[in-house]
Amino acid sequence: MLNVKIFGIVQGVGFRPFVSKIAVANKIFGTVANRGSYVEIFAQGSRDDLQKFLTALQTENPPRSTILNVTIAEMPDENFSDFQIVDSVHEVGDIFVAPDIAICDKCAAELFDPTNRRYLHPFINCTACGPRLTILKNMPYDRERTAMADFPMCDDCAAEYHNPDSRRFDAQPICCNDCGPEVYVLNSNLRGHAAIRHVRKILAAGGIVAIKGIGGFHLACDARNFDAVERLRNSKTRPTKPFAVMFRDIAAVERECFLTAAQKNFLDTSQKPIVLLQKKIGSIAANVAPDINRLGAMLPYTPLHLLLFNFPDNENFPDALVMTSGNPSGVPITIDDDDALTNLECDAILSHNRKILLRADDSVMDFIDDVPSMIRRSRGYAPLPIFYAGSKKFSALAIGGELKNTFCLSKNDLLYASPYVGDVGDLRTIDVLKSSIARMSELLEISPEVIACDLHPRYHTTILAEELARELQIPLVKVQHHYAHVLSCLAENNFSGEVIGVAFDGTGYGDDGTIWGGEFFICDEKNFERAATISPFKQAGGDKSAREGWRIAQAMIGDIDIARELNLASDAELVGQKFLLEKNFNCVTSTSVGRLFDAVSAMLGICKVSTYEGEAAMKLQAFAERSTFELRGNFATTAELFAELLTRRLAGENISDLARFFHVNLAALTADICAELSRSTKIKTVALSGGVFQNSLLSSLTIDELRRRGLMVLRHMMIPPNDGGICIGQAVHARVAR
Ligand code: ZN
Ligand code: ZN
Ligand code: FE
Repeated sequence: MLNVKIFGIVQGVGFRPFVSKIAVANKIFGTVANRGSYVEIFAQGSRDDLQKFLTALQTENPPRSTILNVTIAEMPDENFSDFQIVDSVHEVGDIFVAPDIAICDKCAAELFDPTNRRYLHPFINCTACGPRLTILKNMPYDRERTAMADFPMCDDCAAEYHNPDSRRFDAQPICCNDCGPEVYVLNSNLRGHAAIRHVRKILAAGGIVAIKGIGGFHLACDARNFDAVERLRNSKTRPTKPFAVMFRDIAAVERECFLTAAQKNFLDTSQKPIVLLQKKIGSIAANVAPDINRLGAMLPYTPLHLLLFNFPDNENFPDALVMTSGNPSGVPITIDDDDALTNLECDAILSHNRKILLRADDSVMDFIDDVPSMIRRSRGYAPLPIFYAGSKKFSALAIGGELKNTFCLSKNDLLYASPYVGDVGDLRTIDVLKSSIARMSELLEISPEVIACDLHPRYHTTILAEELARELQIPLVKVQHHYAHVLSCLAENNFSGEVIGVAFDGTGYGDDGTIWGGEFFICDEKNFERAATISPFKQAGGDKSAREGWRIAQAMIGDIDIARELNLASDAELVGQKFLLEKNFNCVTSTSVGRLFDAVSAMLGICKVSTYEGEAAMKLQAFAERSTFELRGNFATTAELFAELLTRRLAGENISDLARFFHVNLAALTADICAELSRSTKIKTVALSGGVFQNSLLSSLTIDELRRRGLMVLRHMMIPPNDGGICIGQAVHARVAR
């Protein structure tokens, strides 16, 4: 018998019925079950039939599904006499709360069919699509426990709701033009279609409109209009950080971006994430994603979005809208009208009277070697659980990190990560975090027996975790930041056992009081040992050193005359920094690869000061991607690599070549260190995590170098390598460390 596990987009896409169909067609006995993050199959049959079954499984899979990884293990036969879909996860009392699902093709067709009774209805949905998590008050999922309880069904809708043959049978958010919620423009008497027509005019004329969606408000403007985008940047005080763009349809995306088959598939899944694509020279304004070669693209995912783009009036409407979360920077996405009126600077607010009960920002996905690499896992994915069979199973609440916060609730073998909460530096974010924890615990019926948080003593999340632990009188486990990163990678890959963990990250509090972020661990879910690090350097200048890469570059260069020659900063700044470094004042020892990237970016003259997190590294990658330089040195440490880069820079070599040289040789050096650790420990598996691995070039090169050295690589796919994923690692450790 074979035990087959299929990872990927296998939820809500008809995957289990498909497996059952091809099993029966190939005379296979056994079962298929939904395990949260993957589908598990037990398949019994003749060698030949099994082979045919496996081939069909991977080549005939349903259109909206995507297979990322398949593991196959031989097992002793059991007494199966047929093939069945089992809901084994449900049998042990585990709960699945469905994420929100983008509008389906059938509903989209009805939306624009003048003969349909839901013609142009902004809230059309069915059993296969529509909001779920964001309108849910309590479980079980029934209309009276959702935000749709405010809208009694009309007779026609009720008839469909109760008819097993209808595609709206048991569809909780069912509604129509007669009974559903209504859109309106705030502070006006414009409602329904008049409201939609009004904001279409404003957008087409270059205005800014706030639009209430599934999980919060967006701010939108014409993505081709430089001045409109500039106004939006000013109103959001967001000078350069890239904006995402919503395109009318796939054809519009293809006019502006290069798309692989996998990217196209993900862009159009029922989750509809933002996908980072390679830009073409097109008509999108240069200030949408300045100085980088990527663009975050998404497709309309609510009926209201489709109506905005395609309403049948005569307006000449743009194909592409900037769509950015409607929030003042650092604060969670706005979900109600009063907040929108006070917080969102715009020309009109298009809202509606269906309440959003839980926030859900858009998910963001990149690709590495044509395999997804999640950057922000939120709408469409949360709160689908990850299945990870740990050795002990205490229910845990893991608070997550301080930036890009998400939290995680775990019960039995399932780890449920929350939608994106945001940066917990602001008190308003803490309030949202608290209320979201309460809501999710209630929905998932989890009472934690242990709480986990970061080791950092001053994080707001740490303080909140301490409070909650006291309140609930349960133990608190503090988990080192980078260890949590690596464990999240183990969990996502359902790998138990020892690994060589590589955590390349911005920063994080080490267990020796220094700043970590370039660590090599030998670890499993219970313990870790820090086996190697990148070359330590001095991080002087406090908070500024995290934004101003030139400060790190100067520390690594040492000689102020060279810093002057490279124009790293003003003379006064360089002298001031030299003083700090010499007196060891306001200095910490750091092994952060994030800061190493900042330093290299500054030293090469690409970005000396970042205006948003990751800017220096993103621009360095963009430069490297313009070069094909493949020269390899033989470096034993990152200090040696940096020194060689400096020599070449001073010799006037091409900047793009040097940016590439850095990526190529950092990957080789990383793999060398892993190979050495593998020789001494006999561990053959390497797990890569930490925000630096969002860099698709570095990830791809490192994976390649590791495989060439005969090592097995665990990498992130659907869980972010950045701080948005650490709650999962915290939960994994807490449930065994309690
Ligand atoms: Zn539908
Ligand atoms: Zn109705
Ligand atoms: Fe981190």
